[in-house]
Amino acid sequence: MQTGLSANAALRTILDATPVAPSETLPVSAAVGRVLAAAVESTRRLPPHDNSAMDGYAVRSADLRHASADRPGELRVAYEIPAGGRADRAIEPGEAARILTGGPVPPGADAVVRQEDTAIDGDRLRVFVEPAPREHIRDAGEDVEVGDRVLEVGDGIGPAEVGMLAALGRSVVSVHQRPRVAILSTGDELVEPDQPVDGGRIVSSNSYSLAAQCRELGAEPIYLGIARDTPIAVEELFRGGLSADFLVSSAGVSVGDRDFVRGVLEKLGCALVFWGVNIKPGYPLAFGRFEHGGPLVFGLPGNPVSAMMTFEQFVRPALRKRMGHRCLFRPTLRATLTEDLRKKAGRLHFVRVELERRDGGVFARSTGNQSSGVLRSMTRAQGLLIFPAEETAIVAGETATVQVIDPEFFASDSSGF
Ligand code: AMP
Ligand code: MG
Repeated sequence: MQTGLSANAALRTILDATPVAPSETLPVSAAVGRVLAAAVESTRRLPPHDNSAMDGYAVRSADLRHASADRPGELRVAYEIPAGGRADRAIEPGEAARILTGGPVPPGADAVVRQEDTAIDGDRLRVFVEPAPREHIRDAGEDVEVGDRVLEVGDGIGPAEVGMLAALGRSVVSVHQRPRVAILSTGDELVEPDQPVDGGRIVSSNSYSLAAQCRELGAEPIYLGIARDTPIAVEELFRGGLSADFLVSSAGVSVGDRDFVRGVLEKLGCALVFWGVNIKPGYPLAFGRFEHGGPLVFGLPGNPVSAMMTFEQFVRPALRKRMGHRCLFRPTLRATLTEDLRKKAGRLHFVRVELERRDGGVFARSTGNQSSGVLRSMTRAQGLLIFPAEETAIVAGETATVQVIDPEFFASDSSGF
């Protein structure tokens, strides 16, 4: 077992051990948020035929040379193309066909004139403009041709992809399975939120924040509950998570004499790959795996910020890899510090910061108390500022890399138009 890894080494170790999930077939409408496990090639043309972009008349442009408001072209309306129907004969010289938006252009016609540019009297049509060939016609296949590779493996499925799949006539789609994440907490002091907190008890908030972190990224949390600080209780709960894809525990993973997690994992046949990462918060992170199938195991530290932070930095990218995503990490940006930050060399710090967009740049300031027990540093944080392991100071006015963890940072109070 390795110990005292750099953040980067720990992340690479975890990602190397994380396989991409097998595929499953889902109804297209249930696949939003998933990632494609097979490319989508079209067996159809979109649109299937040349069609009108306007309500108006399908015409032969050669019939309307030099037509204008003063000298309208004159045509006879031969028939109307019903919505969803098609013409049963070509239009001849001197003829037009009534057409509605999306209607298939009849044989013989090579342009559409807008209704606003015409006047109709019975079947006699006057046209006040000279249409260019192909004007107001949407070409068959201009969107998708037969055989086009429309979507690739690794593409995320959002509303546009759902619409496209439907347009291509697909009712089901092959996507990567959703990872199932078993979550458990350990600690004699822990209770559920509706239980009394007298006598040194605290709510097991990690159970809830970790499950929410899973849901937010589209993984399925399975909450196993709270294990008391005995090897038997811890082992029993861990056994309940052995059929999940990921097993995530919090607390009991340090060096205290009631920290049984590492011992229990080894007893269950889980090989501990590493324990201890040179980061703050979150040093006592354990990662293990089973030789012959079984979940990837993350023993997260117990402090509420440490648990969330180690999930954010290590479990989340692994889950995204498993889900088939190409990009595993949060968006980052460079932000200018508005105050000095100092620390000892040795550990990489994730500083919870609030962000402000101003003067064409982004400015970051600490959320305040950075103790690993202060959950408000997480409710306030829009970003996590990377304070590199060997650096000891970043002073006001200098820039640093910030992971943006709050998507609302990119929300705006103005429409942009
Ligand atoms: P431990 O790793 O067991 O020493 O726990 C470290 C700190 O995290 C202690 O202050 C615990 O009370 C706290 N803690 C442990 N588990 C949880 C939890 N599920 N929710 C909130 N705090 C916890
Ligand atoms: Mg404990």
